[in-house]
Amino acid sequence: MNYVFPPAPQAVLPVAGSESGFPVRRVYCVGQNYADHALEMGSDGRQPPFFFSKPADALVPGGEVAYPPRTENLQHEVELVIALGKGGANIAVDQALDCVFGYGLGLDLTRRDLQATAKEKKQPWEMGKGFDQSAPITAIYPVAQVGHPAAGAIWLKVNGTFKQQGDLKQMTWKVAEIIANLSSYVRLAPGDLIFSGTPSGVGTIVRGDVIESGIEGLGELKIRLV
Ligand code: MN
Repeated sequence: MNYVFPPAPQAVLPVAGSESGFPVRRVYCVGQNYADHALEMGSDGRQPPFFFSKPADALVPGGEVAYPPRTENLQHEVELVIALGKGGANIAVDQALDCVFGYGLGLDLTRRDLQATAKEKKQPWEMGKGFDQSAPITAIYPVAQVGHPAAGAIWLKVNGTFKQQGDLKQMTWKVAEIIANLSSYVRLAPGDLIFSGTPSGVGTIVRGDVIESGIEGLGELKIRLV
């Protein structure tokens, strides 16, 4: 069939050590999945996981990232990203890791002022979270290379100063539990990404800032806001 205009390109991420790309379907995110970050956001940290989404075309590689419009308070959140190679509905916790193709490091960039207003008015977070270039991300590192990282440093620096320093073992809901829980709401499929939440230390970034981040055992990501 012809189209009335050219279809948008498929979002694709590089796969470390491979010539083949990882075609992205949906991008899910977990809210407040580290107790110390939940506390800094005003929650008690013992809630069931909750989810929101970003559009797949919000994914961008490291390098220059455009400062988004309509905000005075853009914030960084460094996160382990789960990349699914298999899907399903109502996936059992003990089967969930079999669905993982690999992992990456992503930034869940957030227009915190818009999110705060949405929370206050009980409106959707969409415009605080799902804007253009809101999800800088590394390549995907296959499980065959990196296993299933469950512990290790996760960190972020702004202009050379540490702002976030956590450990993956501080995640309230573990990777397998996140996949199982999310699959009880929606059928997951190959190509789905899940941003798994951020440790404490989120803060404001401005044009010109250089943001470096890393996860032990995975790669590093560097962006500059322009
Ligand atoms: Mn987040």
